[in-house]
Amino acid sequence: MLTGSSIPRAAVASRKILTHSPEETIAYGREIGAGLKMPALILLTGELGAGKTTLTKGIASGAGAAEIDEVTSPTFTLVHKYERGTRVYHIDLYRIGDARDFETLGLEDLFSERAVVIIEWPEKMALRTDWPVMRIQLEHVDENTRGISIDDDAGT
Ligand code: ADP
Ligand code: MG
Repeated sequence: MLTGSSIPRAAVASRKILTHSPEETIAYGREIGAGLKMPALILLTGELGAGKTTLTKGIASGAGAAEIDEVTSPTFTLVHKYERGTRVYHIDLYRIGDARDFETLGLEDLFSERAVVIIEWPEKMALRTDWPVMRIQLEHVDENTRGISIDDDAGT
C-alpha cells in the first residue's frame, strides 16, 4: 500500500501560500510543526534551492525538537536527528544514486517510533508506511518568493 492511501481523498486538506523571504518560510514551517500530530511523515518536493531545508528549520523548531540554527542540510549524511522534546528525523535522499529501498538504507526503523519524519527528495525512493502523510511542494517563483503547496492526509 502506498503511503497513507487508506485515508479517503475527501479528507485531504489542501492549501497554498507564497512566502517572500526565508524568514517567512521558517515562520510558516513553525506553524506546521506546532500543529503536527505524531507520528507524522512530511514529504518535501521541489528543485534545489526551492526552500525544503529552510522550511524544515521551521518545522523542526515548531515541533519543539531543535533550534532553527541547529537544522542543517543532511545532504551528505542522509539523516539528521533532532530530539530536544519531540523527535524529528530529517532525511535528504538527493544523493541516493540507485533506486534503493528504505530497508537497505536502514531507515525503516525510523517509522517504528513516535516521531516526525521529514524527507527531502522523497521521489528518489519507494516509501511504504501507514502513517498519515503531508506532501509539501515548494516552487521557486523569483529570487525571494516561494510557492508552498500542502496536501495533508490528516486534514490538519
Ligand atoms: P532546498 O533544501 O530546497 O535545496 P534550501 O532551503 O537549502 O533549499 O535553500 C533555499 C535558498 O533560497 C536559501 O538560500 C534561502 O536563503 C533562499 N530563499 C530566498 N527566498 C526564500 C523564501 N521565500 N523561502 C525559502 N528560501 C528562500
Ligand atoms: Mg535541502
